[in-house]
Amino acid sequence: MNNKAIVNKPTAKTVRRSARVIITKGNGVHAPVILCEHCGRPVGANGIALWKRRGGPVYHAHKGECDRALQAKHGERLLWCRLADHIDDMRHNTIDAKEVQS
Ligand SMILES: [Zn+2]
Repeated sequence: MNNKAIVNKPTAKTVRRSARVIITKGNGVHAPVILCEHCGRPVGANGIALWKRRGGPVYHAHKGECDRALQAKHGERLLWCRLADHIDDMRHNTIDAKEVQS
């Protein structure tokens, strides 16, 4: 797979209310994209991951208007990091880390 980002606009057929990671298809290639928790559009370089506490759910949003709206909805400030760093951590915990017992 090449390093070129593949982001296709999700359609009503591909976006479901509960789905935050979807598979899109463009140029014959299937690719996963993360959707913004607030606006539903694909999150890219301007994305962040947000969470309330350890063990809780993680939300993804565009930094700025979308993350402010999401934090207002939760009624408190959320912890956050850049989406790219979040994905790096997920890759590490998926591929490099040993199995974790919960
Ligand atoms: Zn957004």
